[in-house]
Amino acid sequence: MNSIAFIPGIRQEDLAYIIKHFSIADISELKKLARDKKIRKLKGFNSKTEMALLRGIQLLESKPVSLPIGIAFDFAAILINELRAWPQICQVLLVGELRRGVEEVRSIELLVQAHFEEIIEVINEIPLVFFNKLEDAKIKLSTPLGIPLYIHFSSIKSWGTSSIITTGSPKHLRALSCSTEYLPEFPEENEVYKNLGLPWIPPEIRETGFEVQFAQGNLIPKLIDLKAIEGDLHLHSKWSDGSNTIEEIIKKGIKLGYEYIAITDHSQSLTIAGGLKTHDLIRQILEIGNLQLRFPQIRILKGAEVDILPDGSLDFTDDILEKLDIVIASVHSHFHMKEVEMTKRITTALKHPLVKILAHPTGRVLGKRPGYNVDIKEVIKTATSYNKILEINASPDRLDLRDEHLQYAKTKSVKIAINTDAHHIDRMHDMYFGVQTAKRGWQTSEDIVNSWCYEKLKQYLSNI
Ligand SMILES: [Zn+2]
Ligand SMILES: [Zn+2]
Repeated sequence: MNSIAFIPGIRQEDLAYIIKHFSIADISELKKLARDKKIRKLKGFNSKTEMALLRGIQLLESKPVSLPIGIAFDFAAILINELRAWPQICQVLLVGELRRGVEEVRSIELLVQAHFEEIIEVINEIPLVFFNKLEDAKIKLSTPLGIPLYIHFSSIKSWGTSSIITTGSPKHLRALSCSTEYLPEFPEENEVYKNLGLPWIPPEIRETGFEVQFAQGNLIPKLIDLKAIEGDLHLHSKWSDGSNTIEEIIKKGIKLGYEYIAITDHSQSLTIAGGLKTHDLIRQILEIGNLQLRFPQIRILKGAEVDILPDGSLDFTDDILEKLDIVIASVHSHFHMKEVEMTKRITTALKHPLVKILAHPTGRVLGKRPGYNVDIKEVIKTATSYNKILEINASPDRLDLRDEHLQYAKTKSVKIAINTDAHHIDRMHDMYFGVQTAKRGWQTSEDIVNSWCYEKLKQYLSNI
């Protein structure tokens, strides 16, 4: 398929604008434009757009069997919007792996309330997907992403049951059917669980089947929720490699209803990402002070994402770090150290009295690199001993810490911050993926420091 209806990592309106402006007909022309550096000449576009385009095209051409959640989710969101525009379709729900927050998905699945003939009619009008075949009670469709899309059908009266079955996981469903041969039909999910003598189980933890045993003992805690998030503690501005001014970030934070945000640009040795020199950081601190006076409705924490150097020392001196409200430490260089050395490097930095948060603790990038060799359990234990905060990097390219690390962290009572690490204000919405990952790690609002009010957070930070 040579479709240019969707390129991962590029906004639909930007793609449409480029296609129209250059009157291009296929992907090879688009690739040539990006390679010839023609797109950066358009207003509002730059070399980053070209890089993202080439990366997106490369991904589509590699015909992957699974995709990072963010790409599949963006595509699903466009489809859901398209489907909702049709009066024949009464309800649409994202189900399957995407609803459970699985980090790399093998398919996109939707549950719809509509008649078969009507949905086929609608699908023929949507250029992004192509009918493939009918399988049992679902339609299989091809997508430009390479992974299939399944559309399941349900009536209103069995909607709850259908959504549980199509959300899965298979192990969860097997554990549920231990108590009954089949799931009775109900319109709401909680009625199905209630009928089995269980409380409703959040989709993100419907994985191994053990959650059903926990539910039987009423042992599932109230998990963190997106609505409970009060701020974002890891954000990049134009001062380093971000795309927006601090003022734009503040306004976005206010729009999201946040009580606080932290500006945390890169430190000096990360020259590739525009790392700030000491005097720049001092100037930035002053600017944030001025902006705070103009925007009293949100708390703006002065911060930095400081590189952890190979020997475990930090990339700014203590007298500079002392001027900040929040110091995030992270590894961005010398990835190929032995596990013992890397673990020592990270734990040494974590023990530094001025470091509050360790960002993207394993350094993985989904679909690109597995992360450095580090004994993550040792890092988690160190964080516990020193009351430090570990990050869930909410970027759907990272999701780091990941679910299973978080389950371990939970047993060690480590505090966690869900941070977007956004380099563009649009990416501040990635909080959604971080919260999903947190849920998969059984985290509650007591565990997540950026679900606390500012006063509680401030007190915790000052006691570290
Ligand atoms: Zn970083
Ligand atoms: Zn960052």
